[in-house]
Amino acid sequence: MKIIRSPSAMTAWSEGLRREGVRIGLVPTMGALHDGHRALIRAARLRCDALAVSIFVNPTQFGPREDLTKYPRHISRDRALCRKEGVDVCFEPTAEAMYPERFQTIVTLPTIARRWEGEVRPHHFSGVATVVTKLFGIVRPQISYFGQKDFQQSALVRQLVEDLNLGVTIVVGSTVREKDGLALSSRNVYLSPDDRVRAVTLYRSLQAGADVIRRGVRAGKVIQTAMHRVVKAEPSMAVDYLVVCNPHTLEPLSMVTGKAVLLGAVRLGPVRLIDNLLVTAF
Ligand code: AMP
Repeated sequence: MKIIRSPSAMTAWSEGLRREGVRIGLVPTMGALHDGHRALIRAARLRCDALAVSIFVNPTQFGPREDLTKYPRHISRDRALCRKEGVDVCFEPTAEAMYPERFQTIVTLPTIARRWEGEVRPHHFSGVATVVTKLFGIVRPQISYFGQKDFQQSALVRQLVEDLNLGVTIVVGSTVREKDGLALSSRNVYLSPDDRVRAVTLYRSLQAGADVIRRGVRAGKVIQTAMHRVVKAEPSMAVDYLVVCNPHTLEPLSMVTGKAVLLGAVRLGPVRLIDNLLVTAF
């Protein structure tokens, strides 16, 4: 497995392969890899001839009071995971190489980034959209893999690719969970043992929403009340949002008539948890 740090060397590697008709896959990550990342890497490995995983803790998607400096970094463990999964290149650029002093372009998607995560983290999605655009420009993959865990992010990436004609096929992999249902996240290591037990309440609240839909409830408000009720039973958990939305536009639904996504974000001590469930009302 190659470790490439310079963007121009990364592009040279890809361009050489593209000329030979090789199908290149990219799994963008911020490192601290877990089984959720592993599942994306495995899915990509099956479908791509050459596979790059980027490991870059992107400073532009962190707010000033967020955890950029404390974000978990385990580069040798990450490289070992990538090597074991048959990754061809770990692309590990520095922040200086990605954002040199003269850098000024910002990519924004005002509508899809407006609500939910966008409200709580105002600059987050322009940071994500900008770095994804850059990674696609540098790595030039034909296919790239994202996790449903970050539902709004994957919707934004699909929109970005369509709007800017980036020519990358986006595959969204299902959320990988712990045995109790908690979605895996690099930030789960911040949870205290007690909070780790409580953390599953978010998933349970989404399940409660899905249950009432299965039982025939269609009114958005009633579904949301069912989700809130579960979280309210856990006083140490504060809700940022718990909503039922159209899975394409991410606008809230007053009535669920077909596919919907239940989106949730809560705070538990110093940790923010996000999760979602896709549901269909028949
Ligand atoms: P991150 O390193 O947190 O930026 O995540 C890199 C990619 O892995 C993103 O596309 C995430 O949505 C995806 N991902 C993170 N957690 C999970 C999970 N539990 N299951 C599936 N994919 C995930």
